[in-house]
Amino acid sequence: MASHSNAGLATQAIHADQYLSGPEVAPAISTSTTFRHPTLDQIAAADDGYFDKNWDPAEPSRHIYSRETQPITTRAEHVLAAVIGHPTVVYPSGIAAFFAILLHVRPDVIAITDGYHGSHVGIDLYRRTRGEDRVTVIKLDDEYPSGKKLLCWVETPLNPFGESRSIAKYAEKTHAVGGVVGVDSTFAPPPLSDPFKWGADIVMHSGTKYFAGHSDALIGTVSVRDKADWVKLWEDRMATGSVAGSLDSWLLLRSLRTLPLRIKRQARTATALASWLATLQGGGVIEKVWHASLQEDAAELLGPEEAGG
Ligand SMILES: *Cc1c(COP(=O)(O)O)cnc(C)c1O
Repeated sequence: MASHSNAGLATQAIHADQYLSGPEVAPAISTSTTFRHPTLDQIAAADDGYFDKNWDPAEPSRHIYSRETQPITTRAEHVLAAVIGHPTVVYPSGIAAFFAILLHVRPDVIAITDGYHGSHVGIDLYRRTRGEDRVTVIKLDDEYPSGKKLLCWVETPLNPFGESRSIAKYAEKTHAVGGVVGVDSTFAPPPLSDPFKWGADIVMHSGTKYFAGHSDALIGTVSVRDKADWVKLWEDRMATGSVAGSLDSWLLLRSLRTLPLRIKRQARTATALASWLATLQGGGVIEKVWHASLQEDAAELLGPEEAGG
């Protein structure tokens, strides 16, 4: 996934997909599901691996059918990969992204405590498809079994209360038994948090929230450490048909241009509001204010870099 690796986040958000564009400055809305087949002469002249196994779904030289790839989703994935710093696959919702992770990891044990209710519903469905006796659900702070495929699912900050959890703590515990750490980072998009830095193996966002950011597109994302896992997720996405709509992908790409501006401003405003509300705590109206910045262990959890931003 080519990107301008020296550029800053705001520049990446605007330009990481530039080399995929035509002469137009803003991406055209592309709703075509099907792309014209090249002529035999074009194929002979192109000689770019279109028909052989080297055709790369991450850098498609042309598009065939939109369940595989389509131009705007590919561009959005390039921008997300640059902004998140890891290869990223786009889905039609956060829950679709989460379910794709369950299919990819195929855990026998899932460690999870609280968090987005829809994730628990997704786990129920996964257990039904695997056989309920085959998949055990435990709490994050339980002891982790070894010798079983474990997925430790850390949502942080937590929906709806916004508390942060230590990814590093659960990563250490999970990796000690050979498990996989997945992070639902929906509430801390870049540049607020980089879960990979703290040991995450796979990171999910409900792009419906901050990535799309305008309450007009349902989107999910999954980011992984390496390209091989990206390709597996892409293959599964093609098999399940869990593909983001072309209009939603376009709305996502539009939104990503302003991501760093929006997130920094929203975080600043939310932190200011939370600290003001906290001064009213105990006055008879407000009992408790929940926000990661007010957690007693906030500095320890986030590190000076993130806590400052
Ligand atoms: C909204 C949300 C989801 C689910 O995302 P959808 O896009 O609604 O499917 C998952 N996790 C968290 C933390 C969320 O806020």
